[in-house]
Amino acid sequence: MTSVLFTNVRIFDGTGALAYPGEVLVQGNRISRIARGARALPTAGVTVDGGGATLMPGLVEAHTHFSWNDQPGLSEIQRMPTEEHILWCAHIAKRYLDMGFTSCIGAATAKPRLDVVIRNAIESGQIPGPRYLAASQEITVPGGLGDETLPHLPYPEFSFGAIVNGPEEMRKTVRMFLKYGVDTVKLNLSGEYIAGIPAEFTPMTEEEIAVAVKEAHVRGKRVSAHARSAESVKQCVRHGIEIIYHASFADEEALDMLEAKKDRHFVAPGIAWLINTSFHAAPWGISPDAAKQMGYHRELEVACETLKKMHRRGIRILPGGDYGFAWIKHGTNAKDLEYFVKYLGFTPMEALLAATKLGGQIMMRGDELGRIQEGHLADLLLVDGDPVADIAVLQDGARLLGVMKDGLFHKDPQKGPARGRFSRSAA
Ligand SMILES: [Zn+2]
Repeated sequence: MTSVLFTNVRIFDGTGALAYPGEVLVQGNRISRIARGARALPTAGVTVDGGGATLMPGLVEAHTHFSWNDQPGLSEIQRMPTEEHILWCAHIAKRYLDMGFTSCIGAATAKPRLDVVIRNAIESGQIPGPRYLAASQEITVPGGLGDETLPHLPYPEFSFGAIVNGPEEMRKTVRMFLKYGVDTVKLNLSGEYIAGIPAEFTPMTEEEIAVAVKEAHVRGKRVSAHARSAESVKQCVRHGIEIIYHASFADEEALDMLEAKKDRHFVAPGIAWLINTSFHAAPWGISPDAAKQMGYHRELEVACETLKKMHRRGIRILPGGDYGFAWIKHGTNAKDLEYFVKYLGFTPMEALLAATKLGGQIMMRGDELGRIQEGHLADLLLVDGDPVADIAVLQDGARLLGVMKDGLFHKDPQKGPARGRFSRSAA
């Protein structure tokens, strides 16, 4: 069993405690011992002298779309042929790990099996990537978000989402995705301005939703939902949809419902989408004025207020979401932590805990993932700087001196440009 001893590090352990100087011993794929101070643990195997850098749990992305290919629209994403598309996903999965995301929750895939195939390839060691829970395509109804077919081109291959009409078609489609092996079934319960469908439109019927949730739960799988409208958030709580994306327009009733079941649900707002579509999409034809006309400025304003209320009520809100669009590219996801501080009133500590401790929970491994604790899985980042003092350090790949997943270095602190700051010895 290989072992790695981190010495001379500041340990941010993901429990809420302030970082402290100490040492961490990893044996195999787990953290076996943690100690305060120096020369506290016996050296065995490899020693990495952190040079005073911060050792923290790997980041978790709660709303990931590997198959979004940095294009400016849903149809553009979908038109990439399958062969190129799977290569793209493999390339992007590695980028997440490069940028310190050791776990990601799939939040919908552009073609039926992309997510599942990538998850399996990561798990079998064929390709590098984070721990991953695979999603279905977005399931939608005719005319709903993700229905990209045209009247004269009614072919499902043209459509970003899987289109269902009525409970029986829903059952058939959900069962197909479950057969393919998804971890999460994704439903589109509300609209989205950029697709020409108001965010507050809620088109799926109760019967359709009930069938989808029942089929997923029968097989022990979870459901997630694109839910911007107040009504769609209520549908999530009523039907036990575990992962709620966006939730911008949740009203007081929706917040009360959610708070009453807050141990059951996670909210991942994908706030980067609202911010950047509002203000930074002009090179792709969406000037701030155009975004305002669509409704994005108002939604951003309402969403910030809603999410602040949610945060005060102790509802679990996690960073990440919808990176992989032209104006919010893959790999820049750590920006979300800064947005949580600037827009949602989180302290840097709270934002970090949302990406680590709560991340372990949304991965359904809260007892072994997301914190630096003895017995936990060794998903660790060695960071040049103090993320509590400057949350933006996590956005700079060069400041990520080391990335370890499951006890193995994806990025070895001894190699690369930072080399020389670290001594490393084999005992
Ligand atoms: Zn999304």
